[in-house]
Amino acid sequence: MDDIDKVTWGGLNADDRRFYNIAVYSLTLPTIAAAIYWWPETQTIHFVLFALMWVLTQFGISIGYHRYFTHRSFKCKPWFAYLLMILGTMSLTGGLLQWVRTHRAHHRFVDKPGDPHSPIAGPYKNIILNFFHSHFLWLLTNFQPNTELDAADRRLLEKVSHSSVAWKPMPYFVVVLLGMLIPGIIAGFVTQTWSGALLGILWGGLLRSVFMRNGEVSVNSICHVFGQKTYETDDNSRDNWFCAIIALGEGWHNTHHKFPYSARQGLKWWQIDLSYCVIYSFEKFDVIWDVKLPAKSQLRNNADA
Ligand SMILES: [Zn+2]
Ligand SMILES: [Zn+2]
Repeated sequence: MDDIDKVTWGGLNADDRRFYNIAVYSLTLPTIAAAIYWWPETQTIHFVLFALMWVLTQFGISIGYHRYFTHRSFKCKPWFAYLLMILGTMSLTGGLLQWVRTHRAHHRFVDKPGDPHSPIAGPYKNIILNFFHSHFLWLLTNFQPNTELDAADRRLLEKVSHSSVAWKPMPYFVVVLLGMLIPGIIAGFVTQTWSGALLGILWGGLLRSVFMRNGEVSVNSICHVFGQKTYETDDNSRDNWFCAIIALGEGWHNTHHKFPYSARQGLKWWQIDLSYCVIYSFEKFDVIWDVKLPAKSQLRNNADA
């Protein structure tokens, strides 16, 4: 296993990934039950850590895994890409390499056989089951593609992994564990109690991961069924304002399928896209450059579609 495979989990086979996903999803109900049971002990710092870790890990996926590593929507300093990779990994969504593979397959076969998580072309006869297939069942069954990455992907990941920063590629589970322990340590420090620290792990680690991952996969399920078809595309993708809020801009999904390379997915002034706001801000500080956006003529041509 080389350095890249450690943190991106490139060496893991399909059975191991499925086992991991079943383990992660089986924590969902106990996590929610624990949060309800210990509700009386919960303090403001736990809500703050919940929100902060949700937003940071969602940016790791939406800006990092998705817009940077999969679609190459912009260029950035290696330390920034590394930070995005670490935050995305902390989400518990799975390794970066597999995420990129799966998402490329989604764009290639969107809503047709071969799409790993389509509610339209799912494996079941029942439309409700197909909806849940696209939301999370595909992760627990055998629908994760094994397509190889191209040489450019490897080169990019090598550059990021061996960037000038002193951080070394860490194994996947070390990063996941850090994403749990950091909020625990902060909450312990603020509350000065062990129970406060444990609730920090629960709210800032486990519970935020449950909510964040549900928001993220809603783009696969809700955004291929409910919402507005702003542009004519060869699929059932939709722009959905609710998903755009909870997934920090990823819910403008019909627009994304129309312009997959675009760093900005909410193209209209009222389409809030917080992930693009971050990209735009870091561009001003020269951390990000070569930001890809649709040309004005393309937008005009599609305005009435
Ligand atoms: Zn899609
Ligand atoms: Zn995409």
